[in-house]
Amino acid sequence: MGKIIYGSEVSSELREELRLEAEHLKQEGKRIPKLAVILAGDNPASLSYVKGKAKACEAAGILEETFHLDGSVSQKELEDLIHQCNENAEIDGILLQLPLPAGLDENHAIEQISPHKDVDGLHPLNFGKVHLGIPAFVPCTPLGIMELLKRMGCDCDGKNAVVVGRSKLVGEPAARLLLNANATVTICHSHTKNLKEICRNADILIAAVGKPRFFNHEYVKEGAYVIDVGINRLADGRLTGDVDFEDVKDLCAAITPVPKGVGPMTITMLLENTMKAYREAVNESGGL
Ligand code: NDP
Repeated sequence: MGKIIYGSEVSSELREELRLEAEHLKQEGKRIPKLAVILAGDNPASLSYVKGKAKACEAAGILEETFHLDGSVSQKELEDLIHQCNENAEIDGILLQLPLPAGLDENHAIEQISPHKDVDGLHPLNFGKVHLGIPAFVPCTPLGIMELLKRMGCDCDGKNAVVVGRSKLVGEPAARLLLNANATVTICHSHTKNLKEICRNADILIAAVGKPRFFNHEYVKEGAYVIDVGINRLADGRLTGDVDFEDVKDLCAAITPVPKGVGPMTITMLLENTMKAYREAVNESGGL
């Protein structure tokens, strides 16, 4: 059987390191890193994600403030709040919870976030920097994927990596990071022909389509590193990934489960990005 790499365990280690760093700052009487989360409307999934993020910040000793706006908020009101957060020196990171309610322009709102506080890595400047191989804020899920590959002992250099899914939040930036790590990358999507054949040639398979147990043994090469990004709720309420875990676990070199795989890493990387923004802000201001 392949190695099962639990993102939940990797996350615990990384969050403990962050907690110690934050505690050290507190003991030294320094300013504590702070994340601002902006939520518009009452989408139940978004409410639950925002709560999860607040809880994770608290446990890591990072300050968090949720700005919960009415679903009928105007573009201007939303963007005024983003500008206020940009100008607030106590705030290091800004996360705009997506999707926004209908009628609001997501891209325009994201562009208002200071690139220095863009801990979700969605601002075009950070997006562009990642594509140029320049250090930048990278979206949290792809960052978590790369950390998990590292923990699997997978050296991406020269490997065939297949990313199935091309969203701006997951698939596309994950493919870019793999390319930056010198993998030979193929991006697949709903129009891709011969998906099985392409996947069967993958040394690294990133499954990010949002279809429960879509990838069975017919899609997986023996000895592959498999990262299952999908989070799908079954009719009985249980969560499952995009990969048929039981069917492929004996085939691959290593695999991430769902739950306890990529999901916890995404929040951990948000904390890491907030700490990174803090460190950069402190360096920029020449101390505290
Ligand atoms: P999107 O719906 O934005 O993108 C899905 C992608 O999958 C699209 O590029 C789509 O192609 C492609 N796709 C859909 N069906 C097929 C198919 N049959 N064959 C090949 N490609 C297909 O989803 P996200 O990227 O936001 O999320 C993907 C999954 O990851 C979801 O289950 C989501 O819940 C989960 N997720 C998990 C996170 C975590 O922290 N673990 C974080 C974010 C997401 P096309 O572009 O042509 O439409």
